[in-house]
Amino acid sequence: MSASSATLADVRRTVCDLHSELTRYGLVAWTAGNVSARVPGQDLLVIKPSGVSYDELTPEAMIVCDLDGDVVDGDHSPSSDTAAHAYVYRHRDDVGGVVHTHSTYATAWAARGEAIPCVLTAMADEFGGEIPLGPFALIGDDSIGKGIVETLGGHRSPAVLMQNHGVFTIGADARAAVKAAVMCEDVARTVHVSRQLGDPIPIPDDDVTRLHDRYQNVYGQR
Ligand SMILES: [Zn+2]
Repeated sequence: MSASSATLADVRRTVCDLHSELTRYGLVAWTAGNVSARVPGQDLLVIKPSGVSYDELTPEAMIVCDLDGDVVDGDHSPSSDTAAHAYVYRHRDDVGGVVHTHSTYATAWAARGEAIPCVLTAMADEFGGEIPLGPFALIGDDSIGKGIVETLGGHRSPAVLMQNHGVFTIGADARAAVKAAVMCEDVARTVHVSRQLGDPIPIPDDDVTRLHDRYQNVYGQR
């Protein structure tokens, strides 16, 4: 096996396995959620096939597409969200993974057209500020991808709430994008519950920056 085919096999397995995190954390219903990853060193991405249940996913069933979203290798159609994922990879060299879900609490904020304010230290850590709202955009062209890239370009957050739709997250790799999707839903729920009982207290910008820098640069195993 050549080095590049070994890499592609690894990416297929990683993308397949990460879908079980979406179900484990309750981020998806039926087949509505997907993970993709860039293939290192190649202008390719690996993404979930469309309409296949999470229990039936295998590494071999993953779809390989070019960065225009056209299928290079796969027996099924790729996820219907492939164009949005591909747009992000074309416009963000730093992104190695993209995740999309309609997770309940985060999507409830999106349905109201409301960014999630930064009122938790965990939000400052992970998102470096609010989780921003992206535009209302219909599937079928580059509108969703463009909305993701334009919105995240102005924020430290790796997550964006697309209005009336759901969550897209990015990461240096697919696992980081999945983590962002899990954390996004977690803080969306907490801030929602807080909002039921009163007005959540904003964290001052300076402290948000301090927390974010510490978490991104010091915390954890490096
Ligand atoms: Zn969707």
